[in-house]
Amino acid sequence: HELRTPVANLSSYMEMMIDEVLEPTPERLQSCYGELQRLSGLISDLERLRQVENENLVLHKTDVDLRELSQVVMGNFESQLREKNLDGQVAGDMSVVSVDRDRMQQVMTNLVSNAVEYSTDGGCVRVTVEDTEDSGIIRVEDTGIGIPREDLKRIFERFYRTDKSRTRKTGGAGIGLAIVKTIVQAHRGTVTVESETGKGSVFTV
Ligand code: ADP
Repeated sequence: HELRTPVANLSSYMEMMIDEVLEPTPERLQSCYGELQRLSGLISDLERLRQVENENLVLHKTDVDLRELSQVVMGNFESQLREKNLDGQVAGDMSVVSVDRDRMQQVMTNLVSNAVEYSTDGGCVRVTVEDTEDSGIIRVEDTGIGIPREDLKRIFERFYRTDKSRTRKTGGAGIGLAIVKTIVQAHRGTVTVESETGKGSVFTV
């Protein structure tokens, strides 16, 4: 459904331009192009999900400082944070753990990306790292729209999106958190969420 609907829409839209029912204005072409880019993003997400859900997922573990990695990830969101007038913060301890750096970067990128996406203008996105004796803890917090209580249990399922997100034009297909969960579990870690509608969410890895 997530792929078929936009493809069907694009096809009929382009058909109308070819049949000269609609004029191919730059705006209409731009809209098609935007939709194609979104589809291409969805396909990349599916590809990533397929990779991590492969039973033989091999982790290339090295010593990684989670705080340094948090800074790298937050840095990658600089322009999006600015666009939405969000305050991006990285706080907490240095915490060196043995993880697959690329996969862990993917985890944090997905969580920060959601925090940004579901934030309202002027909010705050904060990543806090805590170092305990036998583990590293990453907390990704936002002051955004929050998640309804009845959805909390299901958001880590593949393709699950809350009604609010479903009605949004932009956004993914509900794959990001499934990828997060799979990677975290492969590291024998856990990921949990606390959230309140209208106040924000906290994801803890
Ligand atoms: P996507 O964001 O592509 O829809 P995800 O798997 O990343 O897919 O998230 C699943 C759903 O969980 C989202 O559609 C959204 O409804 C909800 N969600 C995830 N993170 C947040 C957040 N930080 N704030 C509010 N809702 C969120």
